[in-house]
Amino acid sequence: MRTRFPDFRLGNVLATSFTATLTERCGNAVERIPTPQRLVDWLAVSGLAVESCTSVQLELARELREAIHAAATAAATQAPLPASAVRIINDRSVQGRAAAVLTPEGDRRWRLTPASGVEDALSVIAADAISIVAGERDGKLALCASPTCRAAFFDTSQSRTRRWCDMNTCGNRQKKARFIANQRKNETAARTGDV
Ligand SMILES: [Zn+2]
Repeated sequence: MRTRFPDFRLGNVLATSFTATLTERCGNAVERIPTPQRLVDWLAVSGLAVESCTSVQLELARELREAIHAAATAAATQAPLPASAVRIINDRSVQGRAAAVLTPEGDRRWRLTPASGVEDALSVIAADAISIVAGERDGKLALCASPTCRAAFFDTSQSRTRRWCDMNTCGNRQKKARFIANQRKNETAARTGDV
């Protein structure tokens, strides 16, 4: 499934995977759910398959996404939670009718109602955001060190010192930038050494 949607950054936490559907927020932002169908695709790979999505529901989803981003950023920086973000997250949480069901194999699945699949899916995402912002899960909210990203991510590393939202993108880019900077420094050193 992941290879079908290489442009989605799917992490281990639903709420921050969702906020990662808008990347490079502090640079040239990339919208990864530009159409209702793309949201349907993202929900499918995130265990929240819905049959359809309207443009109004896409707007609702993006509004929730930005509210989660705002609340998670505030939590990561120990700032007060923005009241509007809290209201939106709570509205989405209470307005869904998703049910957790247990499979015979012992896995959790979300059962969404056919009539309001997207709203139900958003309620699951909102509840996930509430659990991490409220500090109920083992981990710590942090902001990506990349200046063009600054995405909020959930650090579950033992030392809680993870710096990047995503190792394959932000982490890798930073590593490359550092390598090039070092190379230049060495070249300069070599040149000045010649004189
Ligand atoms: Zn990042």
